[in-house]
Amino acid sequence: MRVVLLGPPGAGKGTQAKGIAEHYGIPHISTGDLFRENVGQGTPLGLKAKAYMDRGELVPDSLVIEFVEDRIARDDCKDGFLLDGFPRTIPQAEAFWDYCTEKNIPLDAAVNLEVPSDLIVHRISGRRSCPKCGAVYNIYTNPPKAENTCDHDGSELVQRSDDKAETVQTRLDVYDKETAPLIDYYTDKGVIKNIDAVGTPDEVQQKILAAMA
Ligand code: AMP
Repeated sequence: MRVVLLGPPGAGKGTQAKGIAEHYGIPHISTGDLFRENVGQGTPLGLKAKAYMDRGELVPDSLVIEFVEDRIARDDCKDGFLLDGFPRTIPQAEAFWDYCTEKNIPLDAAVNLEVPSDLIVHRISGRRSCPKCGAVYNIYTNPPKAENTCDHDGSELVQRSDDKAETVQTRLDVYDKETAPLIDYYTDKGVIKNIDAVGTPDEVQQKILAAMA
């Protein structure tokens, strides 16, 4: 199963990606997580990506496309993959479609999570994550058992720097301008699965799995 997951920031892509990837036994590849890891480790890619990420802007296509193609060429992707946060622009989608055609690994689905914009802001402002194990919570919809503390390892939870109010609007504007056109792109390709992503994580996951069956 080869899947890309679309949706605005805060639509629940990370949460759903985990469940879908586990269900199909395929790797969950989040370009945002990979960039954050590279920034944290101070790699050359991380150094290039950091300024864009801090501003809530997209990292240039040329950096992202090569990075993703290298990642899915690895052995663990031979039976499929789930891409979360890629593609984010039409040039990325076109380059990736051509790559998949050339390698004879066609995409099975582009799952598009639909969430009204007032809910998005609420979801993003409540998001907290564990700096140690990466677990993601939401103080409104999916709180940890003890306030601001990771259920798994007891670390203090943090808010992503680009989830702060001043950056969120830029990310939403970038989504509308650069990423929303991918819905039409994948509709034309015949692989879109539009999912109403309002509801609990479990409810949304059931809808996604039903649409992909
Ligand atoms: P995310 O965790 O998916 O919200 O991604 C966090 C940030 O990483 C984004 O705001 C971008 O700066 C960068 N990023 C992640 N994926 C991409 C992509 N496919 N293209 C360009 N920038 C990306």
